[in-house]
Amino acid sequence: LVEIDMVNKYFGTHHVLKDITTTVAEGEVVVVIGPSGSGKSTLCRAINRLETIDSGTITIDGQQLPEEGAQLAKLRSDVGMVFQSFNLFAHKTVLDNVTLAPIKVRRMKKADAEKRAMELLTRVGVEDHAHKMPAQLSGGQQQRVAIARSLAMDPKLILLDEPTSALDPEMINEVLDVMVELARAGMTMIVVTHEMGFARKAADRVIFMSDGAVVEEAEPDQFFTNPTSERAKDFLSKIL
Ligand code: ATP
Ligand code: MG
Repeated sequence: LVEIDMVNKYFGTHHVLKDITTTVAEGEVVVVIGPSGSGKSTLCRAINRLETIDSGTITIDGQQLPEEGAQLAKLRSDVGMVFQSFNLFAHKTVLDNVTLAPIKVRRMKKADAEKRAMELLTRVGVEDHAHKMPAQLSGGQQQRVAIARSLAMDPKLILLDEPTSALDPEMINEVLDVMVELARAGMTMIVVTHEMGFARKAADRVIFMSDGAVVEEAEPDQFFTNPTSERAKDFLSKIL
């Protein structure tokens, strides 16, 4: 579904993505881990075209990433993105947050969009809060709304960039549970997270990045119990 081939990215002279090459199959769940500054967010943003790349190619469902225009809007609607900060629209209700894009971009009828939104809010367990404003919800609830919002566009792929790292500890699991459920339901996911429990439970593959490069790629069990690179061993010794 996603093919990333020899992607390079510079910020000025700083080489932040180095010959990144990997593929993500339909239904696959890939966890990306690595030290701060290793390029994980930049890679996610490049996949969604929030960031340009300097060389290499990224294709999604056989389509090369367009530079701009209608094609780009189409691509963005195929790729859901959930960030560390929940960035819901603060002045819209939870329900409006979820229906906005389907109505505007997909030209869905309001009633249909709302019906679907309620199903999704139920799926992530926040249906009782549909008519509240985001600020009235806890961080974990807001993040689940953000996941429902991205699902509302029926994306082919969801990118989640440290979706639980801004949450208080007691809220982390409620979001991870939703992510595990999504993974089990067959959603294609690229997840930047240091939550090893999620990786072990739900990931098909772990990609370890360091200093802009993919240093190691392995199944979670293999990676956590028997990493091959020194850099991965060193990183794991610090976080486990
Ligand atoms: P973290 O775990 O802290 O989120 P990360 O692996 O997501 O880190 P990135 O945010 O992708 O890392 O950043 C990779 C490198 O690119 C870092 O050195 C960062 O300082 C640099 N960088 C990121 N965004 C920009 C930008 N807009 N302009 C200049 N440099 C940037
Ligand atoms: Mg990051």
